[in-house]
Amino acid sequence: MGVDEFYEVVIVGAGPAGLMCAYELQKAKKRVLILEKNSEVGPKVCAGGLTTKIKNLGFSLEIAEILFSSVIVNVAGVQRFIVNQEPFVGTIERKELGQMMLQRLDPKLIDIRVSHPVVKIGDDYVEVMGQRMGYKHLVAADGSNSLVRSYLGLPTKKFGLTIQYLVPQKFSTLELFFDASLFGCGYAWIFPHQNYTSIGCGQFMDPRHGAKLREGFDRWLSLRGIRVDDGELQGGIINFDYRGFEFGNKFLIGDAGGFASGFTGEGIYPALVSGQEAARKIINQSYRTKVITEILHIKRIHEALFSLCSLFSSLDNSGKLLNNFLRFTSLGFRSKILTKKAIQLFC
Ligand SMILES: Cc1cc2nc3c(=O)[nH]c(=O)nc-3n(C[C@H](O)[C@H](O)[C@H](O)COP(=O)(O)OP(=O)(O)OC[C@H]3O[C@@H](n4cnc5c(N)ncnc54)[C@H](O)[C@@H]3O)c2cc1C
Repeated sequence: MGVDEFYEVVIVGAGPAGLMCAYELQKAKKRVLILEKNSEVGPKVCAGGLTTKIKNLGFSLEIAEILFSSVIVNVAGVQRFIVNQEPFVGTIERKELGQMMLQRLDPKLIDIRVSHPVVKIGDDYVEVMGQRMGYKHLVAADGSNSLVRSYLGLPTKKFGLTIQYLVPQKFSTLELFFDASLFGCGYAWIFPHQNYTSIGCGQFMDPRHGAKLREGFDRWLSLRGIRVDDGELQGGIINFDYRGFEFGNKFLIGDAGGFASGFTGEGIYPALVSGQEAARKIINQSYRTKVITEILHIKRIHEALFSLCSLFSSLDNSGKLLNNFLRFTSLGFRSKILTKKAIQLFC
């Protein structure tokens, strides 16, 4: 059976991964089709935390709503201040990020179709709105519930569960909260934006324990006296089960590829990097994806740390052992050198 249209590259999903990939392909004058199931590019359940490494990808830090050169890390009742000379984290509204990335794309080369959910994957075509779109290369940028990933038969066994409220109250400081008795191996956050604040928590664990995470979060909110009744509860998963990037003429990038950190849940930066690298590989088959190797190296360190936390958590259900370990580790923030190293590793 033939195809209705043919493109050299079809990208499924217009999140940061897909848009970044298209932008890089555009530089090489490739003709690309992006298929996005939502009616608008950008909006996504996300706390919108950004690390300033996005500079490495040519983004100006001005895209951030707020930049922070200090962050408070609360470890089971102990406060540690992480202070840097320059900003190292910031926040961004996901719709703004999506729209800004969309505006960089030239419609003469990049054909982007919203409200176009891909419903079926074939070896050289995808099915969308009753049509078959043929491709030479397929890029899966369709997030944590990726259809292309399922087509390739890759399971997703490692993922984080996250919940957040977006509240109208303003907070001035970006804060993280680790407390194993409430969040297990995960953490809660307060991420201030210009007109609202994301207050949420996440845990990398078995989905059957979702109710427990909600329970811990509610307890923490009431302990801190944070009111969320005027905010909307949202939730989502973050796939961090990386099982490869290139599968013949198909690439898995961003959350579809499991590129997010298994410790912090940071997924925007890895999505951008993997999108750029997939495009470079499509443009030049002999390109060596060394930036992928670098981010996978950092990801492995994050996951080793997570495994250590899981071990402490499994040895003591009350969370005391893990809290003691976290408090001890956080002593490192008293040292300027170790703080700098931590910023390099996590931000
Ligand atoms: C509550 C929460 C908080 C988070 N906070 C942060 C944070 O502070 N910082 C951070 O770095 N990361 C955070 N993340 C993770 C981050 O949101 C993701 O890692 C990031 O969005 C991944 O980008 P992506 O382009 O791979 O996928 P997505 O942003 O998920 O984009 C995938 C796109 O594909 C589209 N799509 C899906 N299926 C189809 C289909 N069949 N056909 C067509 N289109 C399809 C979707 O509509 C979507 O637009 C958070 C996640 C959650 C859930």
